[in-house]
Amino acid sequence: MKPLNELTRPNIWALKPYSSARDEYSGKEASVFLDANENPYNTPNNRYPDPLQRELKALIAPAKGVRTGQIFLGNGSDEAIDLVYRCFTCPGKDNVVAIDPTYGMYQVCADINDVEYRPVRLDERFQLSAERLLAAGDERTKVIWICSPNNPTGNLMDRQEVLQVLREFQGIVVIDEAYSDFSSERPFRLELDEHPNLIVLNTFSKAWGCAAIRLGMAFASEAIIGILNKVKYPYNVNRLTQEAAIGQLEQQHEVRQWVTTLLEERERLAGEFARLPLCRTVFPTDANFFLARVTDATAIYRYLVDAGIIVRNRTNVTLCQDCLRVTIGTRPENDALLEALRKWNPEPPLNN
Ligand SMILES: *Cc1c(COP(=O)(O)O)cnc(C)c1O
Repeated sequence: MKPLNELTRPNIWALKPYSSARDEYSGKEASVFLDANENPYNTPNNRYPDPLQRELKALIAPAKGVRTGQIFLGNGSDEAIDLVYRCFTCPGKDNVVAIDPTYGMYQVCADINDVEYRPVRLDERFQLSAERLLAAGDERTKVIWICSPNNPTGNLMDRQEVLQVLREFQGIVVIDEAYSDFSSERPFRLELDEHPNLIVLNTFSKAWGCAAIRLGMAFASEAIIGILNKVKYPYNVNRLTQEAAIGQLEQQHEVRQWVTTLLEERERLAGEFARLPLCRTVFPTDANFFLARVTDATAIYRYLVDAGIIVRNRTNVTLCQDCLRVTIGTRPENDALLEALRKWNPEPPLNN
């Protein structure tokens, strides 16, 4: 890996961050707080939250098998994705490489930041080739984006290929593991110490059942986390979110139970779906959704909308022609989908 000062946007490397009242005094022991121009009434919402979310990180670290200094928390993973561009790429100069198809936010944030985005097509099994990803870059490539299990395809990326990218690429490698709770493979966040150029993304939005609170995580070396923290808004994770996340971390057995149930339902729904006459292929999945190729994705999507059931039509995405992405719901929700699809009639009766 190139030295971090060469990878970081020069003004960010030189940045002296805003220092808030809660940065300068972060203890809780004092009894009189007259430092932040807060209103003394309306406890607890009157007080600014901890800018570095220490109490929350102390619970996340053991749950995720990382050190507290290796954790960045943001307003959804989306904040971490945007910060990667703002910290490590120069608009109009640098570029990034990503697998294709994948999660749309990597490209949207590249476009917002005026950074060239170089998609590299997966093969017909939706697998990446380290050689092709590396060959797509040049001396101005700062970041490679990998998502595993990948969205929208659902599958894990080949571990040996990912390891080759981590070893050979001189810039930052982001592996988005938003769905790793649904996979049995060892997550890359446990290998941060072996890969100084690695950033792993996680989220409270999927297995943790907390999409509404907007809490995303990035795990990386202490040096990389220090750069992300310098650029983030001082109070980017509000008190209500921190409190809700702490509550959910105290109920981890509930999360494990949800994952177990969803994995059972995934096997059942994918199996039943594959037997439908309209289904061509259900692709292998390691996530809480599956991608399926059907006879006519757009017509079936519209038919389901009319039945009050929403799936994701991915027919216009690279390699996903006539594919629907189906999230695993509760058993009755999954049954409602199957029941509607069993009634699907591709040839509307002729009017005569
Ligand atoms: C759903 C999803 C996320 C979650 O984003 P949040 O902003 O944390 O809700 C991140 N990455 C991928 C690939 C996803 O599918």
